[in-house]
Amino acid sequence: MGDIISQAFFISISFLQKGGLTMSYKFETIQLHGGQYPDSETGSRAVPIYQTSSYVFKSSDHAANLFSLKENGNIYTRLGNPTTQVLEERISLLEGGIGALGVASGAAAVAYTFLTIAKCGDEILSANNIYGGTYNFLTNTIIDYGIHTKFFNPKDLNQLENLITSKTKIIFIESLGNPSGDVVDIEKICSIAHKHNIPVVVDNTFATPYLIKPFEFGADIVVYSATKFLGGHGTSIAGLIVDSGNFNWKDSKFETFNTPDNGYHGLKYSDLNEKAFITKARVKTLRDTGAALSPFNSFLILQGIETLSLRMERHVANAEKIAEFLFKNNEVEWISYPKFQENIEKELVEKYLKKGATSIFTFGLKGGRKRGKKFIDSLQLFSHLANVADAKSLIIHPASTTHGQLNDSELESCGIKPETIRISIGLENIYDLIEDLKNAIEITK
Ligand SMILES: *Cc1c(COP(=O)(O)O)cnc(C)c1O
Repeated sequence: MGDIISQAFFISISFLQKGGLTMSYKFETIQLHGGQYPDSETGSRAVPIYQTSSYVFKSSDHAANLFSLKENGNIYTRLGNPTTQVLEERISLLEGGIGALGVASGAAAVAYTFLTIAKCGDEILSANNIYGGTYNFLTNTIIDYGIHTKFFNPKDLNQLENLITSKTKIIFIESLGNPSGDVVDIEKICSIAHKHNIPVVVDNTFATPYLIKPFEFGADIVVYSATKFLGGHGTSIAGLIVDSGNFNWKDSKFETFNTPDNGYHGLKYSDLNEKAFITKARVKTLRDTGAALSPFNSFLILQGIETLSLRMERHVANAEKIAEFLFKNNEVEWISYPKFQENIEKELVEKYLKKGATSIFTFGLKGGRKRGKKFIDSLQLFSHLANVADAKSLIIHPASTTHGQLNDSELESCGIKPETIRISIGLENIYDLIEDLKNAIEITK
């Protein structure tokens, strides 16, 4: 059993030990160096792309040892890859976690987290102001496998506590809700969840670890669509799961953590203590369903992370100026941006948005849905597409696209109106962006 555990450990964290970078470095240093050391064979300063499916065994004995779990080492890229491992360690260090797992997309990161924890008959409690794809997965897909979801309004925490049952195995929130960037009281939600020994999973895609570190407020697991700000340039789809290592999986209600896994040499995941979740996510969920991250995409996400703090500062500054411009414009009916929201709690803003309110927010123009569509078609610089958090500025109409599967009452429960326009502010010169918006507002008057 000891060998099995150490192999499982190796698979999740081998580079954590090799990288040798300690947590005492600051964010800007970790984003450049975390998880990597110059290649000893070639001296390569950049992270090499190990574009390989598999790894040559040194001898037949070596191969036999790897397979019988007597020795640690790379076997096959679906389970682990040296380029991806640098990315996994880097995000784990930036987030303050004990390990991470790279997967093929943000959707896979969310799905794999749910599937690693919950089984048929369990319940998930999810905030209702979340990414449309996640909402759809919860309401229309995972339900077919016997996992049911109840939604709560993250601003009504009494409701949350009332919805908890003995079957509740996950509480899921987004640190800044999609698409409106609402602030959520992560700490309060975690303290309610932990009273009932339920792990809190936070999708931190819109905030990135530069703006918010959910583990500091008690979150247990953080997930990312690395496709967004982490990659930052709209080039690659990727997802990350980060484990705080703080949750106690030994509670017998987490049945799959506390019964031997016949598919993994009889390993009982809770015996891995703080590594239980992230190891199970890799050696069971990822191994058996296979949404592995391509090493080339890992390289591109690493490239993005090198400048994360600088880009976030500019994203935030540009967004604040554009929000101000829209707020003052008479043709704008409403704007959902923390600084200008009427009933937003000031303490929450001070606590969670110390470094700014990301660069994605929503607004509505006078003239409703029809004008909104015309407005989007009149823009020159903003790209009309289904993505956010690119270096380039983007815009979309959620009710007819990202949230198009939802009916009007579902839309309303997600905080989306028929006229809502979602904007994602990039890194262009602020005057050019404002000119573009100004022109489109004028043309559609
Ligand atoms: C985009 C997104 C996802 C899904 O990620 P993909 O990389 O597109 O699969 C999940 N959560 C949030 C908040 C997102 O914005």
